[in-house]
Amino acid sequence: MSKENDKSVARGVPGAHGEDAGQAGQVSQGNKPLRPHVRGSGDFTFDMRALGKRPGEFKDEHRTAAAPDGLGSGLVLVPAGSDVALDLRFEAVSEGVLVTGSATAPLTGECARCLEPLASLIEVGFQELYRYLPDPGEDEDDGEERFLDGDFLNLEPAFRDAVVLALPLSPLCREDCPGLCTECGARLADAGPEHRHGAQVDPRWGALAKLELNDRVED
Ligand SMILES: [Zn+2]
Ligand SMILES: [Zn+2]
Repeated sequence: MSKENDKSVARGVPGAHGEDAGQAGQVSQGNKPLRPHVRGSGDFTFDMRALGKRPGEFKDEHRTAAAPDGLGSGLVLVPAGSDVALDLRFEAVSEGVLVTGSATAPLTGECARCLEPLASLIEVGFQELYRYLPDPGEDEDDGEERFLDGDFLNLEPAFRDAVVLALPLSPLCREDCPGLCTECGARLADAGPEHRHGAQVDPRWGALAKLELNDRVED
């Protein structure tokens, strides 16, 4: 989801950007997301009052939030405090608010094959129902149900769950990373395709290897 397609971002930010505001202004901003920036513990909290609990009402929100702590696996993580771009639609339905959208966050870690540092992005999609209230007799902590906190919706648990599910089990520095040499541990992408050891000599080079051996014997 690129910001070029994201027309509604411009709302409420006069002259900041938008497709008509000219590209020149955007160039000087580099890759920084041009979105209202919200910091602090409320980054993932959204105010639902505008929906007025009227089924069918909806609103779109585009926000950059600071990534929460502890979001990762052994090999990769979303750095705490890094920018998470949220593109969301909140829609009132009879039992609560349905949130649909996506989040994009940076991902850092190391390649599962060659152990080189890697940096990429993770994009996750959501569709989650946040209910107004549990049914009578139902415990709020039961199962996977999510609930609104009064007029507010805290997206963080849904975001966390979506990211954890989407983390790559074997992150790679590139699709075709050749990994490490099993003999000497050299990173094969650096060592090059000719990197070989003794017995594993490519048959096409066999004659050459024999020559070298004979030279050594004569020395
Ligand atoms: Zn690699
Ligand atoms: Zn080697």
